[in-house]
Amino acid sequence: MVKVVSLPLEALPDFPALCQIWEVLPQARLVGGAVRDMLNGMVASDFDFGTPETPQEVMKRLRDAGISAVPTGLSHGTVTAVIDHRGYEITTLRRDDVTDGRHADVSWTQNWEEDAARRDFTINAMSCDRTGHIHDYFDGQADLKAGRVRFVGEAETRIREDALRILRFFRFQARFGAGVPDQVTLTALRHGVALIERLSVERIWSELRRILTGPRVTQTLCLMKETGALTACLPELTDCLSDAIQHLDALISSGGPADYALRLAVLLAGAAVDSETAKRCVERLRLSRADSSRVLAFLQKPFPMPERVVTEEDVICVLAEIPREVALGQVWLAEAQQVLADRACHEAAPWKRLRFQLESLPVPVFPLAGRDLLAEGIPPGPRVGELLSMIRSWWLQSGCRAGREECLTCLRRLHKSFS
Ligand code: ATP
Ligand code: MG
Repeated sequence: MVKVVSLPLEALPDFPALCQIWEVLPQARLVGGAVRDMLNGMVASDFDFGTPETPQEVMKRLRDAGISAVPTGLSHGTVTAVIDHRGYEITTLRRDDVTDGRHADVSWTQNWEEDAARRDFTINAMSCDRTGHIHDYFDGQADLKAGRVRFVGEAETRIREDALRILRFFRFQARFGAGVPDQVTLTALRHGVALIERLSVERIWSELRRILTGPRVTQTLCLMKETGALTACLPELTDCLSDAIQHLDALISSGGPADYALRLAVLLAGAAVDSETAKRCVERLRLSRADSSRVLAFLQKPFPMPERVVTEEDVICVLAEIPREVALGQVWLAEAQQVLADRACHEAAPWKRLRFQLESLPVPVFPLAGRDLLAEGIPPGPRVGELLSMIRSWWLQSGCRAGREECLTCLRRLHKSFS
């Protein structure tokens, strides 16, 4: 295998900023995800540095050079340099002294290998100096090439030190893994699963979200199922884990988007959970309000598809009632269910057409509001809302074609017949 010995850093858009940091901290190296992603030919999003200087020294050197330095996590050694509105985390090299299953007491070190040894996986433990040279103490490059997510050191020990690493394992497996992990790793994961419940739900969801959008999500969920991690994270799926994963597989094979909310909804639908359980699930995982309502909205089935939504008029009426993005998610979900119900008879074309229409047709706007009714002399009160909703129903039945004047005529007719 040919190892990359150095990276062409000059090509990076962030190169001038990285150089400014190297100017004041020449020993600093890029660490973790940025090195891994660049070696994998991907665009790195965050550039984190490790450095042997203490955080106080880092602060001082940056400020002396006129670079804004924010003490974002001094107790664990992190200072953030801000250059051109972008943050670059610079963390003093560390060694773990005591660990408690989630957090570690750390002390500073000058030794790069010690710092690499406390990182979770070999692919995350590489560093890159200012010349672009790669320092790879644990064969991370070979593992990255082979799609092997391998713990640095003994898997059992590393999991006992920090149970979050179980979920981080699956996150990186979903992104970089190929094939099945070795038996020792799988056993360690299985043994560690009981520790998941000690993690905060926010942590669990934050990892699960990233697993759900990983390119190898279904294979990874199968591994999570086998090790017991999937039940620990999503007990709502009960013993329908395989059905849930199959549904997700159907969504992905029909070309569904990598949207974690839609993917969670598909898992829940695949396990046939009722709406109360789905609600409990998103509340338990403390999803944001926006994410929760998206998941729950995707699970609703307000219109039969695609057979009942065929004309443009039908689609426009759907758009009047349901936000475009929600309607599209519902279509993806319904298609996945149909694929599974009858793979042989599944025809992709009507679903594609329906999605195309949902994406391209305009959202109709109901032309009346409460003030129009008041202007017509209807006194304020519950009657206004009632009339408005009656006219809206009539407008929907018109295929949302009726304009303002027609709606006002309808209002006058209704008002007259009731008064
Ligand atoms: P991503 O692109 O998903 O952010 P990343 O590798 O940058 O991937 P982070 O969670 O941002 O992941 O962590 C940065 C680095 O810190 C990791 O690459 C790893 O070296 C180290 N790290 C983070 N969390 C842990 C942990 N729980 N145990 C050991 N090392 C960790
Ligand atoms: Mg990162």
